[in-house]
Amino acid sequence: MYRNFSIVPKIMFGRGSFNQLADVLAPERVTPDSYVVFVLDDVFIGKPLEGRIPLEKGDLLIHVNVDDEPKTSYIDALVEQIRKYNPVVPDGIVGIGGGSTMDIAKAISLLLKNPGSSADYQGWDLIENPSVYHLGVPTLAGTGAEISRTTILTGPEKKLGINSDYTIYHQLILDPDLIVDVPKEQWFYTGMDCYIHDVESLHGTFINEFSRSFGEKSIDLCRQVFLEDHPDKDDKLMMASYFGGMSIAYSQVGACHALSYGLSYVLGIHHGIGCCIAFDVLEEIYPEGVAEFRKMMDKHDITLPKNITADMSDDAIELMVTTALNLVPLWENCFGADWEKIMPRERCKKLFLRM
Ligand code: NAD
Ligand code: ZN
Repeated sequence: MYRNFSIVPKIMFGRGSFNQLADVLAPERVTPDSYVVFVLDDVFIGKPLEGRIPLEKGDLLIHVNVDDEPKTSYIDALVEQIRKYNPVVPDGIVGIGGGSTMDIAKAISLLLKNPGSSADYQGWDLIENPSVYHLGVPTLAGTGAEISRTTILTGPEKKLGINSDYTIYHQLILDPDLIVDVPKEQWFYTGMDCYIHDVESLHGTFINEFSRSFGEKSIDLCRQVFLEDHPDKDDKLMMASYFGGMSIAYSQVGACHALSYGLSYVLGIHHGIGCCIAFDVLEEIYPEGVAEFRKMMDKHDITLPKNITADMSDDAIELMVTTALNLVPLWENCFGADWEKIMPRERCKKLFLRM
């Protein structure tokens, strides 16, 4: 069976395009007494970007904190806050930030139209009602969250996305000027998330020409960004992220992402850096990708944390192994149907012990 998947219908790209946000929102402001909710990463409090948000009378600006990756309890509290502010359903939600903030805005737009807790919808196609119109503005490039049909949430029982066609943004504004000042380490880790999406997609068993077309362009852009010196590297990374997201949408990620979920679930390690830590021990599985990744680290003088699993109890390590191995489609993509023979628990554990 072929999947029939939706993509973001409207996209604006270019330096300074954020200035057109008010014009883009204007036709969406249709309901009397309604309003728009702007969900802004709190790293921008008091920064020029905050002052450029086109707030109109009645609009709500929420600062979100992403020191921890988004939790279902946080989403539920934000939805409650919006309903208390104004019981009328907003005409739009605008998410401005990195992958975490973009995911928070997606989840809010779904939960404003679907009853209960966000934890009830972690899984595939559990959402029944279309979301509120939502618009994404990335301020980091790499995750592909701007284009994906998921919002990744940590719930009381699991870390799992709300995957649905309604999760997808209605509109993106991709303004490379917004990633110009990202600190080097964060720029690198989130950018490598994209590079790793490409390697895992291109070297997976699920690969097809659709995914290859996007993945090859994305990895080419990553090479230009991280191995060469380009004046328009921010434009390139933004497009690499978008294409990388398109590539995995019709294939899958692989071993590195499976391991990084273990790191994230048990140790709370963020997605980008977690992927880098995991990728660095995967030279047997992705030899060329890991060699090139290390060149990129050298060029940008990046040092990864070491021995992060050294002081962990055996139970905690086993939980990481279980979390990683539960992600069956990722392993199938990596090794094929016989993956369990190729990646038994013991081998997976050894990989974690090398991190
Ligand atoms: P992030 O959104 O977690 O942000 C990382 C840090 O960078 C935060 O401290 C944030 O405040 C800061 N930041 C954001 N923009 C900045 C800017 N312009 N300048 C300076 N600092 C800035 O990082 P991320 O790597 O973009 O996203 C990771 C998150 O994305 C995780 O929660 C992960 O689960 C999620 N994710 C989602 C998808 C998806 O398809 N939905 C895919 C991959 C990852
Ligand atoms: Zn990723």
